[in-house]
This record gives sequence, structure tokens and C-alpha cells, in this order.
Amino acid sequence: MHRPRSEPAAGPAFPRLGTSSDFGAAEFRVLIFAPVGRTAELARQALARAGLGATVCQGMDELCGALREGAGAVLLVEEALSSMSAVRLLAETLEEQPAWSDCPVQLFVASSEAPSPPLAALAELSAGRSVVLLDRPVPPASLISVMRAALHNRARQYALRDLLGQYEEARAEADAANRAKGEFLSVMSHELRTPLNAIGGYTELIELGIRGPVTPAQRVDLGRIQLSQKHLLGLVNEVLNYTKLETGTVEYDIEDVPVREALEAAEALVLPQARAKELALVAGATERSLSVRADADKLRQILVNLLSNAVKFTHPGGRIHLDCERAGECICFTVRDTGVGIPEDKIAAVFEPFVQVRSDLTRPQEGTGLGLAISRQLARGMGGNLVVESTPGMGSVFTLKLPA
Ligand code: ADP
Repeated sequence: MHRPRSEPAAGPAFPRLGTSSDFGAAEFRVLIFAPVGRTAELARQALARAGLGATVCQGMDELCGALREGAGAVLLVEEALSSMSAVRLLAETLEEQPAWSDCPVQLFVASSEAPSPPLAALAELSAGRSVVLLDRPVPPASLISVMRAALHNRARQYALRDLLGQYEEARAEADAANRAKGEFLSVMSHELRTPLNAIGGYTELIELGIRGPVTPAQRVDLGRIQLSQKHLLGLVNEVLNYTKLETGTVEYDIEDVPVREALEAAEALVLPQARAKELALVAGATERSLSVRADADKLRQILVNLLSNAVKFTHPGGRIHLDCERAGECICFTVRDTGVGIPEDKIAAVFEPFVQVRSDLTRPQEGTGLGLAISRQLARGMGGNLVVESTPGMGSVFTLKLPA
């Protein structure tokens, strides 16, 4: 969709940044630890005059405890880092912060060019954190300006935290909606199967003449009822299979499956459809010893789905090749057809559930658009993948990759 250039793309509203008037709030307080004469108290008073809230701490333990509870910035003098344990405690507390947080630390030192050993250790332990060294003495105006800049930086981090919270909430809501959809589809398909099976059963009873003689015209109608019942049951079963995959309730029975057997089983199931449509179904030669790590039933399900699609989307007289070869640590099954192909802009979409590309070969109601979505999920569930390459008008090649 095109937008006029002047109109910005709609996005989530960016939370209001902290303003100077917020800097008195608890989450913006400056933690001070400066065990040198009255330095700490004088700094607190200077910050208070500028409208910045501050708390004076009596030790590194107290400062780190307060930092864990939440702070806008930290103000230290070099003497606060007199021991290595104090250095380590500060570095660890800075590292423990959540991903969005990087509380600014302003450290007033005698010489930033010739750092003392604890300072050098802190620089190493807290690399990547915002620890800034400032040479003393720092004039009061500079102190205020530096702390304001640090608090503005902190306000951006809080804004990011709020945004992350909003995104997480939205994602949790979307996940819950998706789960509800899955449960609804699963219950609905279960409920539909029972009457559908009854329709099938009673039709069969009537057809067998158990309820009395059946006229030829009635037999034709019964055949139609059975065809529709089977079609509908197939669709319902496919929806049920898909919802099971979505909710992660599918179990895989992985074993060494002989490749040749898997190919022959799938080929046998699709051969009647291929013959009826006058398609040549050719299986390539495979080594007898070749095997693949897979769930045999699910592997067959994928191959049958790919072959049935190839039959469905290839004009009479076309060819379908089924091959398999080893490629490094993987076994690659390919189903190649000379059918209608898939337009480039639809290639990614065909693996999405309920997506069907319009073609002159099938009516839209044939199939559910779930076969490929199910097949790819099954392939991934077995540690493999399913991909496609296609040229419209020339044909498609589906490749199923599984661990050897
Ligand atoms: P269904 O076959 O039930 O429509 P699938 O998920 O198996 O659902 O396939 C989705 C869509 O992908 C099909 O409707 C079709 O448009 C396209 N497609 C799948 N296989 C082929 C193929 N071999 N050749 C051309 N198009 C295909």
C-alpha cells in the first residue's frame, strides 16, 4: 500500500520520555556513595537544588541493594572502590540488570589517564556498561549537567522497557487467541466426525439392501452421498491433523526407515490417481541400503501429499518424477512435476495454512490448502524441512530433506 510521503507509517505510540519534572521521582533517584568528608551530602544538596532526587548510601552493599530496586543513575568517587570486593559487587550488580537496562554510572576520579588498579579492574569487569570517568574537581554546574544527561539517557531506557512490556502483552494476547482458535477447530472437527461417520454407515446399510430393495436410480444417489461424505470426512480429518500439529500434541516415532520401502508405499497409493489422469509416474532407482531417520507413517503422509498435489496440478499426459538421494548428512526426497507451477510471489504462501493458489486445473473447493502446511510442520518435527522451486507453466520441484 502506498502512503503519501508526508504521512508517517502508523506505529506504536512511543511512550513519553522522562522530563526534568520527572527527575524527582523514585525511579530517577541518583544513588551517591562518596566516603570522603562531606562530599556525598554536598553533592546531594547540589542535585536537590536542581530538582534532582538523590539518596546517599553508606557503603557499596547498600548502594548495590538500592540499585537492584531501581535507580536513575549512580554517582561514585574513586575512594568508594577501595577494595576488589567492592569493585566486583558493583560490576556484578551492573551485569544483573535486565536486557533493557543500563543504569549510568558517573565515577569521579583523581586521574582518568592513570587509573588506579581497582579502577582498571572495574573498567575490565564492566566493559560495555555506561561507566563514565570524570576528573576531579568537577564544578557544580558541570555536575548538574552531567547528571541531567545521564537521567535523560535513563529515561530512554525506561521508555524502551514500557514498549517491551506492551509488545509482550500484545504477544500473550495473540498466543491466547491462537490457542482458543486451535481448541475450537479441534472440538468442532471431533463433533463433525461422529455424524459424518453415521451418514457413511447408514448409506452403506441401505446400499446393501438391508432396509429393502434399492432401485438403480437410488443406487446412483447413494453413490453420490458416499462420495460427498468421504470428501467432507477427509477435510475434517485434515483440519483435525493440522490443529494437533499446531497445539504440539503430535508424537513422532522416529526409527531407521528403509527409503525404498517408503517410496514404494507412497507410489502405490497415488498410482491409481496418476493412471486415471494419464500421467507418467516415474520412481528413480535408489540404493537398497539407503535409510532415513523418520516416523514411517508421517514420511508416507508427506510423500503422498506431494505426489497427490503433483497429480492434481499437472495436465493429462504430463510426468511426475519421484527420486531420493543422499546429500551429506541428509536424505533428499524430490517430487518433480511438469505441471502448472506456482507463481514466484505465491511460493512462500503455499506453506501457510488454508492457502490455495488459483489454477484452471482444480476447483477451489478441492482440498483445504492444509496439505503443505501439515507436510512442512511434520518435516520440521522430524528434524528436516520441506522446500519448493517452481517455474509457472513448466512445473514444480518439492524437496523433502530429512536426517540420514
Ligand atoms: P490443497 O492441495 O489442499 O489445496 P496444499 O497445502 O497441499 O493444499 O497446497 C496449497 C496450494 O499450493 C495448492 O492449492 C496449489 O495452489 C499449490 N500447489 C501445491 N502443490 C503444487 C504443485 N505440485 N504444482 C502447482 N501448485 C501446487
